[in-house]
Amino acid sequence: MAHELSLLAHIASIAAGQSAAFPHVLLAPGDDCAAVRTPGGDTLLLTVDQVIEGRHAPSPPGGWHSPFPGIDSLSRDELLDLYARKTIARSISDLAAMGGQPLCALCTATLPHDFPPEAARVLAAATHRWGAAWQCPVVGGDVASFASAHPGPLTLTLTAIGTIQGPPVHRAGAKHGDHVYITGHIGGSLLPSGLGHHLTFEPRLREGALLRHELGPDLHAMIDVSDGLGLDASRIAAASGVAIELDESQLPLSPGLTDAIRALADGEDYELLFCAPHAPKALGETPVTRIGRVTQGQGVRLRRPSGQTLDISSHGWEH
Ligand SMILES: [Mg+2]
Repeated sequence: MAHELSLLAHIASIAAGQSAAFPHVLLAPGDDCAAVRTPGGDTLLLTVDQVIEGRHAPSPPGGWHSPFPGIDSLSRDELLDLYARKTIARSISDLAAMGGQPLCALCTATLPHDFPPEAARVLAAATHRWGAAWQCPVVGGDVASFASAHPGPLTLTLTAIGTIQGPPVHRAGAKHGDHVYITGHIGGSLLPSGLGHHLTFEPRLREGALLRHELGPDLHAMIDVSDGLGLDASRIAAASGVAIELDESQLPLSPGLTDAIRALADGEDYELLFCAPHAPKALGETPVTRIGRVTQGQGVRLRRPSGQTLDISSHGWEH
């Protein structure tokens, strides 16, 4: 985790001067999406993410060939469908975290050297189907294969492009005195089988747009919880120059969970974490829970039922 985080910070520092040299770059690396202004005056959101076999999705123990042994009784095609779904959904979630709407996507696939052609066709069809399901047609991409001398895992990359009317919601912007809210539930996204919520979550696209519409400029900061509530809250805190204090007793744990500390670090909840002076109690059928407040200082602390506080700024999971 430390290596990935420090590398991301390094890349952000390299790109920090971009907006000065290129005024159409509204938001450089360091948020859920980049934002650029087109010559016509529109704002585009751009985000890219990967799904790597064995890293972000379970690797079938016997490989991708038939007969497929199955993972938890899933067929090969059903598992490939989940790969495609997650590939699209991760980027859609980043668009949602800015309050944007999908426009289109580009997808690349690097296939294992012996990946069956019929499996590749299933994967391609599923990718297009899931893109269409979220109004994010896949309009281009590329396919390559690992060489047999240098084998590698199935690797999918998706670049999503979104639109937004008015300014996007940044991670920076949380203010002392704001409340901290989260949609849905957290924790338990990864089952022992490797399956679970992290493959089947519904990106909070509608909720992000509703929040932006209902709260307007009062929606001060927002992020999607991909790496763990503690770590992602610390990203809002660092970008905004504030501290965040979360109340353990208020955390909406997924049904059946009791260990809040673990749930904070699980990650891949893909819920929206946001800071505002007020918020609705629900967005349609999606609950919204107040879980803490923004204070002066830095970092993220968890107030435990005992009254003690715990620094949870780095509670997360490296993807
Ligand atoms: Mg994100």
